[in-house]
Amino acid sequence: MDKVKIAVIGGSGLYSLLENSEEWKTETKYGKTSDTIKIGKIAGKKIAFLPRHGSGHSIPPARVPYIANIEALSQLGVKRIIATNAVGSINLKYKPGDFVLFDQFINTTHRPDTFFNEEKVVHVSSADSYCSELNAIALKAGRKIGLPMRKKATVIVVNGPRFSTKAESRYYSMIGGDVINMTQYPENVLAIEKAMCYLGIGIVTDYDAGVFKGTKTASLHEVNKKFNENITKLKELLSEIILNIPEKRSCSCKNSLDNAEAAK
Ligand SMILES: [Zn+2]
Repeated sequence: MDKVKIAVIGGSGLYSLLENSEEWKTETKYGKTSDTIKIGKIAGKKIAFLPRHGSGHSIPPARVPYIANIEALSQLGVKRIIATNAVGSINLKYKPGDFVLFDQFINTTHRPDTFFNEEKVVHVSSADSYCSELNAIALKAGRKIGLPMRKKATVIVVNGPRFSTKAESRYYSMIGGDVINMTQYPENVLAIEKAMCYLGIGIVTDYDAGVFKGTKTASLHEVNKKFNENITKLKELLSEIILNIPEKRSCSCKNSLDNAEAAK
């Protein structure tokens, strides 16, 4: 298998992105990936695609095999991950239909979240865990094709699968969250532990429960409807981003393991 340097993680609605794809089945030492990994081309570049929840959307957020997924992509040679997500808004400025680029997360889950549980202890920095180079490329790409882009967002990661209570929503908004999601953690930090670049794109599907007067709480059906309405735009955005990714990385993501190992 030739090396693949860029991967997209997202919903199964993105399958048709890839031209002439082939499948790569693998089982890592951390277990099976969410699904077989599809490998094909976008904008002339070789891309791996992994549906986060499995092809039939059968894996809930807390049971996504994040560690196996990132390990498998690392084995393929992936250096850059583009992750797509549905998000709820807890900031009135972030409207349904907006495309947001995450620059910070607040994790509220207690999921296994490291490759370094044995043999050695490694403390990577997650101060700026989203790739600034990919973020800039994505912002430019989105604006070029006329999408309502938000260049920054703090994403609150909740365990799910349930949506938040009104009180939780208000709390998450008060502590600085802009949007809520169930899958950014630990996917983002595991990529950092592999010295990969990670871009997180959210599509705002609704306002989260009870934060703003006059906005109604969305059902899963409505969330899915809003996400699907935007899938064509998302595909266009991904193609434009991938087209503009340079061969060499000029960001600091590749150095994330430097000086991170605890002294013995
Ligand atoms: Zn980077």
